[in-house]
Amino acid sequence: MSVIVIGAGMAGLKAASTLHKYGVKDIKVLESRDRIGGRLHTVTGFDGVRKYDLGASWHHDTLCNDLFFEECEVGGKFIFDDDFFIYIDQERGRVDRDPEMGLEIIDREISKFADMEYYQKLGTPDVSFQELTLRYLYEKRQFLTDDQIRYSTQVARYLELWHGLDWKLMSAKDTYFGHQGRNAMALYYGDVVERIAKMIPGECIELNAEVQGIKREKSKTVVTTKDGRQFSADYCIVTVPQSVLELSVKDETKKETGRIEFTPKLNANIQAGFDLVHFGGMGKVIFEFDQTCWSKESSKLVTLASTSDKFAAEVRGSKSFDELRSSVNASDAAQALEGRNCWNQPLYFINLAKTVGTASFMMLMQSPLTEYIEAMGQDQEKVFEFFRPALDAIMKNMQGKPVVNGLAQVPEGVDPSKTPVLRNIIVTSWTQDKYSRGAYTACRPGDDALEMIVALEQGQSPSVRFAGEHTIVDGAGGVNGAWSSGLREAEYVAEQLNLKPAEK
Ligand SMILES: Cc1cc2nc3c(=O)[nH]c(=O)nc-3n(C[C@H](O)[C@H](O)[C@H](O)COP(=O)(O)OP(=O)(O)OC[C@H]3O[C@@H](n4cnc5c(N)ncnc54)[C@H](O)[C@@H]3O)c2cc1C
Repeated sequence: MSVIVIGAGMAGLKAASTLHKYGVKDIKVLESRDRIGGRLHTVTGFDGVRKYDLGASWHHDTLCNDLFFEECEVGGKFIFDDDFFIYIDQERGRVDRDPEMGLEIIDREISKFADMEYYQKLGTPDVSFQELTLRYLYEKRQFLTDDQIRYSTQVARYLELWHGLDWKLMSAKDTYFGHQGRNAMALYYGDVVERIAKMIPGECIELNAEVQGIKREKSKTVVTTKDGRQFSADYCIVTVPQSVLELSVKDETKKETGRIEFTPKLNANIQAGFDLVHFGGMGKVIFEFDQTCWSKESSKLVTLASTSDKFAAEVRGSKSFDELRSSVNASDAAQALEGRNCWNQPLYFINLAKTVGTASFMMLMQSPLTEYIEAMGQDQEKVFEFFRPALDAIMKNMQGKPVVNGLAQVPEGVDPSKTPVLRNIIVTSWTQDKYSRGAYTACRPGDDALEMIVALEQGQSPSVRFAGEHTIVDGAGGVNGAWSSGLREAEYVAEQLNLKPAEK
């Protein structure tokens, strides 16, 4: 029996390795890129030693993450990097754990407010997360201080860095979700990918093999690659990202890189599912310094979007919620005209000096900023100028001096043990890359990802199946979801063929 797996990310590798374990001999993994791993990609820094994960970094939900359990069994490396958040405002400096403001407490109340709106009442219409938090401020303003009105919703915006979407784009209903345990940072995902790939015979994996067609012919599925080769198999497991698969349902995308023409077309449930879901744009920028000369007080720092000192008065003075919403929309529009800067949105910096002892920050950003920064690509000077004010604010609040530009060369007379000298910047390209077209599934107001997940879980037909982070509820959007979905589809095929796993 033969199986073709499309895509060598976590889902594809897990599916292929499981099928191999079940004794399936004829497996072909077709991968469009020149590397395996997909949205798992470990790179080295300017000194050739430091390592960074440009895609996923964490094992989430570690109380019930089967990939994480397997990593524990085989001695995989990771670190629980739990820490409290340091919040930095452009004007005010640090606003975290301030007993006068109690922003963390208000943040928790906002989450409860969302929960009551969407999960304890029926029929509350989904709106953007920005609108929901504004409504909270409007309704509870008499119980909040001016500082709480000004800063609390900016603190709540750290959730943008979970979903990879700006709060104007993010579904309020979908914003909060229960964590099933702590997060452990993988050290590094490249090793996890390699470990699983080693379970598959090398000749089974073909790189630079972009699939362009999947056709049902009698009892077989025929897969065509860009270079015209055809492969025929009994089963096919498609693991390309949601953003790539979605191209298949649109006629106008026929010439897009990565698009797969399905014959017959993707079934009606799958097509309908795509109408109710979007794709997020999480991106990362790594700032590498010569030496660590700032505080290791916390590994988690968020620079907040800046707010006007008139905002609290505006919230208090509005005669209706609509009036408040219009005035916030007007100031957002005015800000947009001024052009982007690093204080328009929250940014999340992981202080790797504390986590793993390297003199670097890993910064997470969200769409639409990600598209903007990733389009700058390798222009390190430009990227540095954009983020410099946020980096300087971090240094100022973390007992460091202003950042010195050492991208081309370390300036003379500067002592890198006392002054943060920036040596290198690495920018991701997930939104630019045609084989990812973004980061992972995300919901905009009105979306319901479940429709697509259920449709993909059921498959196109008994022999054309789907796996990937976008095809599963438990672990949705994450590496563990991708892993479990690959396992699910391999076990489905094995069950159809009445196979038992071979002894280890
Ligand atoms: C910046 C970022 C941060 C993240 N952080 C985390 C995190 O901390 N924790 C977490 O759990 N998850 C995180 N994720 C999500 C996680 O990386 C993904 O959910 C997971 O890796 C997806 O695996 P997959 O196998 O479903 O898809 P992919 O890894 O995308 O694999 C699909 C493969 O299909 C290939 N392909 C595409 N089109 C074709 C074609 N036409 N023909 C052949 N091959 C094709 C692609 O090249 C790719 O290799 C993050 C993602 C990003 C981008």
